[in-house]
Formats: sequence, C-alpha cells, structure tokens
Amino acid sequence: MNRTKYDVVVVGGSVSGLLAAREIASKSSISVKVLEADHEIGTPEHCGGLVSLSGLRKLGIVPSSRTFRNHIARAKIYSRHSSFEVDAKLQDVVAIDRRELDKQIAFQAQKLGAEITTMNSMKSVSTCPKLVESQSHKVENEFTHAVGTTEGTVYCKYLVDARGLSSLIRRHRTGILPSGQYEVFAPWIDPDTVELYFDADKYPGFFAWIIPLGDNKAKIGVAGRDINIVSSISSFLESKGSSYSISRKIFAPIYVSGPIRHFIDDHRFLIVGDAAGQTKPTTAGGILSSGMGGMFAGRAIVSAIEQEDDSFLNNYPNQWHSIFGFEFKKLILARKIFEHLDNKAIDELFSTVSQPTLARISQDGEFDFHSAPLSLILNVKSTSSIVKGLLESRLRRAK
Ligand SMILES: Cc1cc2nc3c(=O)[nH]c(=O)nc-3n(C[C@H](O)[C@H](O)[C@H](O)COP(=O)(O)OP(=O)(O)OC[C@H]3O[C@@H](n4cnc5c(N)ncnc54)[C@H](O)[C@@H]3O)c2cc1C
Repeated sequence: MNRTKYDVVVVGGSVSGLLAAREIASKSSISVKVLEADHEIGTPEHCGGLVSLSGLRKLGIVPSSRTFRNHIARAKIYSRHSSFEVDAKLQDVVAIDRRELDKQIAFQAQKLGAEITTMNSMKSVSTCPKLVESQSHKVENEFTHAVGTTEGTVYCKYLVDARGLSSLIRRHRTGILPSGQYEVFAPWIDPDTVELYFDADKYPGFFAWIIPLGDNKAKIGVAGRDINIVSSISSFLESKGSSYSISRKIFAPIYVSGPIRHFIDDHRFLIVGDAAGQTKPTTAGGILSSGMGGMFAGRAIVSAIEQEDDSFLNNYPNQWHSIFGFEFKKLILARKIFEHLDNKAIDELFSTVSQPTLARISQDGEFDFHSAPLSLILNVKSTSSIVKGLLESRLRRAK
C-alpha cells in the first residue's frame, strides 16, 4: 500500500526542492516526499549551467564527471561599440550539465531516504482541520496540509513550494522576461570565454549570451522585455557567422525583480528557490541563491520538528537574507540604473572601465556575489558620467 502521510512534502524536484529534501532526509526520523511534475529529474533542462565551484561546494556538491562540462577562463562584455574583458581564472567558474546536477542532488537525497516521484504533480492543497475525531473524542490533528496529487492525496505537517517560476508568476507578474536558449555547434565559438552582448534596443533590460561547453558547442540565448525571442536569437546567430547548427531550443521565462516579501506563510508553508524570487536580479542566475534557499528551508524544518517549535522556521529567511539580502538590494539598484541607459550611454559607461579596475575585478571579484565588481565598474569617477548618461538617455528617448 502506498504511504500517504509524511512529515514534509516538497513540490518541485529541481535544485531548490531537491536540496531542501536532502537536508530534511539527513535526519532519518523525518520523512520527506518530493513531487516532480515532469517525467524525469533535470528534464527539460532550462539553464545555462554557469556556476562557480565554490558555489557548488556551498551547496554540498562536488560535480561528478558527468555533471562537469567546461572551465571558463574569461568573460567578454560587449556594447554596440565598446567592450571589456574580465579574467575569470581565479573565480573557478564552470559550465555544468544541469540535468546531471539535478540527478546528482536527487541521488544524494534518495540515499538519505527521501522519496522522489516523477510525473506526479501537486493539483491542489488545503489546510487540514486542527481537530479530528479519534474513537469518541477529538484530538489535535498533526497533519497541516492535504495535498492533492496525480497519485492521490498525501498529508504532511510541512509543505515546501519549490515549483519555480510557475508558482511565482501566480503572485508576482512584474520582473518576468521572456528568454530563449539554443544549444549550438559552430566553429566561431570561443572555447573558454563567456560572452555577453548588451544592446538596449535589441535586448531591453537584459542581454544576449554565449556559454561555451567545449568541442565547438555553446548555449546561446537572449532575453529582453517585449521582444520576439525567436527572431532575436536568429539575428544574433546570423550576426556571429553563417555557419552554425542548432541541436536544441528552449524557451523559458526568467525573473529579475528580487525576492518576494514572505518566504513562509503561517500554515507551515515554505516557498523556496525561483518560486520565492531568489534569482539574481542582474543575470537571473539562481543555482546558488535558489539552491541555498532550499537548503536553509530544509534545515529550518528539521530544527522546527526536532525542537517542536515552529519559530525555528524563521531561521530560513534570516539565513537567506543574511547572505543574499544586501547583495540583492545592490543588484536591484544596478539593474534600475542599467534599465534607464540607452546604447550611447552603455557605450560610454563601458569605455570608462579601466585596466586597473579590470585587474582588481579579476583578482578580487566573486562570480556569485558580483555587486562588488559592478560597483567598481560604476565607480565614483564614472558616477558623473552615469548620471549624465541617464539624463541624456532620457532626453534622447523623449525625442
Ligand atoms: C534560460 C535560462 C538560463 C539560466 N542560466 C542559469 C545559469 O547559467 N546559472 C544559474 O545559476 N542559473 C541559471 N538560470 C536560473 C536557474 O535555472 C534557476 O534559478 C533554478 O533552476 C531554480 O531552481 P528551482 O528549483 O527554484 O526551480 P526550477 O528549476 O524552475 O524547478 C521547478 C520544478 O518544479 C516542478 N513543478 C512545477 N509545478 C509543479 C507541480 N504543480 N507539481 C510538481 N512539480 C512541479 C517543475 O517541473 C520543475 O522541475 C537560468 C534560467 C533560465 C530560464
């Protein structure tokens, strides 16, 4: 007979949900079930897979040979008429296979006792009555949620929403941009250089990217406000050279507006990862920040159960904000400035980035916490040119 009662149900079997489940399953006395709507963990993959090795270590992951794809040596950042290059060797940035990463975490969680099911969606959720009949009298119901799933109803004390943007979109419609990413084979792909292309007309509010995977392969994508993704990627690829061939296309939204206000509601319902807006407002990268959200939520649930005190659930938002709160605020500010710049102003800003600044960024910059390198680029010397650029951009747009 299928089990129907768990201490915790996690909805969404991707990086944040699986890390929450792994942390919970590390206590053998606590039962946890993961519901994944898709037929396979990690599939369909909708990620560039760019992450630092130190970030993966923080998530408790050493990438296996199947997960690892490529080392990144540098990043080249282009505007229409200017560019600069950041040496990334010291930052240990890698491109990983997201399918394999998710499977690796799923295996970690399974080994500890987490029950993972695929093709099993959450269809509904309701709060259970506080008191239930037991023989002739009413007793306290320890199960808080009745979760309607593809395979029937399951009951749990704590529920974790790790459904990604499909959950966030229901309550937070702003800050979502369309994106597309193709897997491309082409002779012109630089094997160890990430390339970012800024163009306020072609990719408003975002950029085009190339993430090299080695062997002349790369993930090439674009995102931007109100753009036609298919024609944007096509013209980007045409601009790079006529010879290329595409082996995969994905279209998925990205989110850039920062964390939602409350990660927990008062019904032992915790929201983690992209569902909680835990992706970087600049790049929409979320493997680390969303993954840590899942980890902290899992640990907080363990403490609440062990100590029989739900106030321990607050450890989750407190820990996440202590690491990412200030960083994300600075990234939101950088995004706000950037969104108001037109191409001329972006050209001017990029042309002010000096060699000593780039050397400092290469030396001290952290891939996962890039507000510091961004502040160096938007430095005091260039502040006046940014303000000037903002004003001039507004004037040019008003014409
Ligand atoms: C094009 C693109 C490129 C990206 N590139 C990078 C990158 O290079 N580096 C980086 O760090 N980040 C990148 N990201 C962001 C990164 O992919 C996300 O931040 C990360 O996957 C978030 O993980 P998550 O577990 O919170 O949510 P998701 O990965 O979105 O997973 C949500 C899961 O929930 C499941 N689900 C949804 N509804 C239900 C339901 N009702 N029942 C059961 N299951 C359900 C889904 O099937 C899915 O498996 C990229 C994102 C996109 C779109």
